[in-house]
Amino acid sequence: MQHTRTRTETVTETALVTCDRCGREMVPNAQDCKHQERIAIRFRAGYSSVFGDGNLVEADLCQHCVKEVLEPWLRVTVDDPFEPKHRPKEKPNGAYQEYQLRDVAAVEDPLKK
Ligand SMILES: [Zn+2]
Repeated sequence: MQHTRTRTETVTETALVTCDRCGREMVPNAQDCKHQERIAIRFRAGYSSVFGDGNLVEADLCQHCVKEVLEPWLRVTVDDPFEPKHRPKEKPNGAYQEYQLRDVAAVEDPLKK
């Protein structure tokens, strides 16, 4: 006898990201690392913000646009990311790229503690 059953499957996929400034496409897991080096800006503006009270502010920028626009103010330090001092900390500190936000959320999510 043949039986039929319904199965629901949830699949999470990282989507292609397009730079909001230049339109460059950044493909996840591509050999060129453009996707990994992108900067994602997402925050809710606070009271009296220049962006408007409570508005959501978002942008995805490729590394080339970040360099072109922000280079005068960026502090770039020659550094070896494989040195022991760079081992993962319990909680990252500072501004994050989107892929780093998962780690921040995992640390700050009380249900995962
Ligand atoms: Zn760009």
